Amino acid sequence: MTAQEIRKKYLEYYQAKNHVVLPRALLVPQDDPTTLFTGSGMQPLVPYLLGQPHPAGNRLVDSQTCFRAEDMDEVGDNRHTTFFEMLGNWSLGDYFKQEQLTWFFQFLTDEVGLDPSKLYASVFIGDEPNNIPKDTESAEIWKNLFGGKGIEAKEVELGSEADGYEKGMSGGRIFYYDAAKNWWSREGVPANMRDGEPGGPDSEVFYDFGTPHDEKYGKNCHPNCDCGRFLEIGNSVFMTYRKAAGKFESLPKPNVDFGGGLERIAAAAIDSPDIFQISLLKPIITGLESLSGKSYESNTASMRVIADHLRAGVFLAVDGVVPSNKQQGYVLRRLLRRAIRYAFDLGIEQDLCEKVAKIVIDMYKDDFKEVEEQEKVVLEAFAREEKLFRQTLRKGLKQFELTLGVTEKENETENFNPMKLSGDKIFELYDTYGFPAELSVEEAFKRGIKLEDDWQKRFDLRMREQRQRSQTASAGMFKGGLADHSEQVVKYHTATHLMYQALKQILGNQVVQRGSNITAERTRFDFSHHEKVAREQLDEVERIVNEKIAEDLPVAWQEEKTTEAFTKGASGAFGDKYGDMVKVYTIGDPEHPFSREICGGPHVEHTGAIGEGGKKFKIIKEEASSAGVRRIKAVLQ
Ligand SMILES: [Zn+2]
Ligand SMILES: [Zn+2]
Repeated sequence: MTAQEIRKKYLEYYQAKNHVVLPRALLVPQDDPTTLFTGSGMQPLVPYLLGQPHPAGNRLVDSQTCFRAEDMDEVGDNRHTTFFEMLGNWSLGDYFKQEQLTWFFQFLTDEVGLDPSKLYASVFIGDEPNNIPKDTESAEIWKNLFGGKGIEAKEVELGSEADGYEKGMSGGRIFYYDAAKNWWSREGVPANMRDGEPGGPDSEVFYDFGTPHDEKYGKNCHPNCDCGRFLEIGNSVFMTYRKAAGKFESLPKPNVDFGGGLERIAAAAIDSPDIFQISLLKPIITGLESLSGKSYESNTASMRVIADHLRAGVFLAVDGVVPSNKQQGYVLRRLLRRAIRYAFDLGIEQDLCEKVAKIVIDMYKDDFKEVEEQEKVVLEAFAREEKLFRQTLRKGLKQFELTLGVTEKENETENFNPMKLSGDKIFELYDTYGFPAELSVEEAFKRGIKLEDDWQKRFDLRMREQRQRSQTASAGMFKGGLADHSEQVVKYHTATHLMYQALKQILGNQVVQRGSNITAERTRFDFSHHEKVAREQLDEVERIVNEKIAEDLPVAWQEEKTTEAFTKGASGAFGDKYGDMVKVYTIGDPEHPFSREICGGPHVEHTGAIGEGGKKFKIIKEEASSAGVRRIKAVLQ
């Protein structure tokens, strides 16, 4: 069965069970043009899972397109993509475990036709300190479902991931894991949840490709092993509890929140661990083989990157993004340019983006009418961007080699000992030749050239000095960041950090950032708080921010291990995903700062800069944004 057929079948199957189909949400949220919709399908449904009635009813189903800029560098293996579709179904206080697990199992085996003997399930092992019982109910349901297919399903208690590698499969079919693997809440495991937060156990389904276990991941294989034998294809969250006064109580009406990867289920349907073999990616690979005259077997990683990036790029363009040096436009530009760069090595020297975009559009236009409607716009934008970049690339690569005095071949010679690439050089290549910084980094890696430790700091500094070019791409955008770097925006950004900390001081440490949007005219900040903030409290926040501006505190940053950053109390934003290392900005004495926040920057160097020209920080509006979330607008005037 093709991926397109699986999507259609899924929606029909749940419609037949009285679910209402939700439309595809744009990748660019209308109310916040500076971010991309990166969620799992569920993020926009949180208020309804918390009890607000949904206008479409209490049984919902959809297939949502998702994009994760932060996964860009991981594309190249057999399962990572920046763009994917998430199949979702929800019970808002309606059906529960029995229906959910039965329907999903029947969908996989009877509708999609997966071999039930290749499916495995995981369930929650329980949490004694918090008095949350083991999910034997789900295990029992799974036992019966497998039994119905003539498969005896043994339960095995694994616990942690480490225990999994220790104990291995042990002949099991249903596996108990701890909260790190089988518990869902917005704040992670039960112990981390704040009062009022909902959460519950979840149950995942894995497909077994039967590939041999790789011992470099651990002694024995188990469903959550990363070796590639198992692929998680769907997760049912049973939102059962709410934390109250440190204890867990049952919700009056528990919910089901299910998410399954369309591409992953499609890969299971063709029994191929390589996701790029499915019907929504394979045609691109075939197209690249014919454009380059080279085989996928010998150019696997490059072709995967090109296929993923251009497929993602088409959807961003369909949803209104235009390649540029700012915000989402920069993300799209980066996708297209990386694809072109990889294609250049395959010998594809023209018309890549337009031709591949045509293939992508043909795969999707029957199911998404907006893809067909935007066809002309997308093809023109892609052709324009490619022409522009080809010129840059030719000049830049030549200059890169001249600058470093090394060609791609030379690193294979014995006495290869080149200079390190500095942030100043990367800036120079960018500034003089328009050669994007991330390409310098990639080219350096390719040639075995190391980067100076402080390259990013130097590069950031040189970028900041370049005031008249301040709205262009910089290192701050590297990790999928979407900042606008104009001077005003930078001032507002630092002011926002001050405000976030001041809000915590006035309203309490439970205040968590839920979103922010900064323009050259104002800052807008969303945060979790259950009631209106009184004007006296806002005045206090204003007073603190202005005091910190007047103190002209230094602003500094350093890279830290993510776990360490959180232990030291750095603020983050709700829903953000962080890698192993993060950039932490401090305001004030770095040893005892007023504010510590995980952030990509950029910021002013001293808070005094925010108040230049006698400007004062003023909160002009405070309102509800959504359930439990307040929104503040503030200006410098
Ligand atoms: Zn394994
Ligand atoms: Zn920030």
